[in-house]
Amino acid sequence: KDYRTNAAPWWCPGCGDFGVLRALQEAAAKLNLAPENVVLVAGIGCSGKIGDYFRSYSVHTVHGRTMPVAMGIKLANRNLTVIAAGGDGDGYGIGLNHFIHAVRRNIDITYIVMDNHIYGLTKGQFSPTSAQGFKTTSSPAGTADRPVKPLQLALAAGVTYLAQAFSSYPEHMAEIIAEAIQHKGFSLVNCISPCVTYNKVNTYDFYKEHLVNLDEDPGYDPRNYDLAVETVRKHDELVIGRIYINDSQPSYQDLLPGYAEEPLVQAKLDYEPEHWQEILKEFA
Ligand code: SF4
Repeated sequence: KDYRTNAAPWWCPGCGDFGVLRALQEAAAKLNLAPENVVLVAGIGCSGKIGDYFRSYSVHTVHGRTMPVAMGIKLANRNLTVIAAGGDGDGYGIGLNHFIHAVRRNIDITYIVMDNHIYGLTKGQFSPTSAQGFKTTSSPAGTADRPVKPLQLALAAGVTYLAQAFSSYPEHMAEIIAEAIQHKGFSLVNCISPCVTYNKVNTYDFYKEHLVNLDEDPGYDPRNYDLAVETVRKHDELVIGRIYINDSQPSYQDLLPGYAEEPLVQAKLDYEPEHWQEILKEFA
């Protein structure tokens, strides 16, 4: 199947988001997903354009609201593959509260965050994941904020699938995204996706020099929670690969009474037409 659309990507040449798009398309191909059974919920920002370039149903939400929209879609129709995608500002700034609740609910959706440590669409302001002291158009003397650490935050909130990948290695990212989609529960794939136009610190070269690939470490066990916490802290989150996987935690849907019987969109409602008339009168 072809997961491309007719739209030409609008991103700057060299943007890390190209690698994420390619990885997502490859992951969908590996799983042979039917585009009509996939919904991609995209946030606001450069990365939010991904919904235009990946062939599936797509919802472009308002800023920071990918999580509630994606959760609502999955709850209405559990037969759909629901993927949310957006940037670090969208997910860890404006949408941070939604993110924490989606993680702790362990609802069966996959969240791809394209993390470039800056707001690119609005021309280069510091973002929630920018390092303290980072100089941008909105912090010319260096930002005073300490950064959100998404991997540690997800682990603290009870994530059951956590991985990080890098745009320079799209095949590795595709493997991880395919695995994350298959995971029964909430999966976060934080994708390091450099902004070549506005972020001259967190560059491809910086990451190639500093990233540690946990998948290449035979002594690393992604089923060991304490080890995951210790490792991401030790490397200040500069790791890629599978960080933590817990298959024993039931998903949100498994815990909801009656949810497993049939998708809500196909459920027969008990109400007779007269009942609907009664309800509608309240809004007349
Ligand atoms: Fe990518 Fe940055 Fe350009 Fe946005 S501004 S498309 S994040 S390189």
